[in-house]
Amino acid sequence: MVRIARERISALFALAEREAATGHRDLSDRYVALARRVGTRYNVRLLAEYRELYCRGCSAYWVEGVTVRTRLRSGRRSRTCLRCGRVRRLPVRERTSEVDRAGEPSLRAVPRSDVALVGPPVVEEPSEPPDDEAEEG
Ligand SMILES: [Zn+2]
Repeated sequence: MVRIARERISALFALAEREAATGHRDLSDRYVALARRVGTRYNVRLLAEYRELYCRGCSAYWVEGVTVRTRLRSGRRSRTCLRCGRVRRLPVRERTSEVDRAGEPSLRAVPRSDVALVGPPVVEEPSEPPDDEAEEG
């Protein structure tokens, strides 16, 4: 059931995106509301990428500059719903929550990728089959 609910939520957000692109914002909002209800009904958390897409106050599907206004203010991203006026404030840096939860200082340097230091991975040549005839003599 959980798997079906997830698929349903994905499908509803895809529909919401499509309707928003064609200007049917009321339909988009309706799809978002349905997706949220599916999530509530089956106790499925909406994916983080979906949770960025709508207002938690009025379930409006957010289209940048149309139904939501994003401003950067004192290190935070504040997104104001232009439908109900609800403000969501998020840290500008994304995907830091795991580091913060682990108790590490969030200001630590971003770990460098090893690939950047050693260059592209060496592609090994396929080893040639041993030449039996050379062993003669
Ligand atoms: Zn709203």
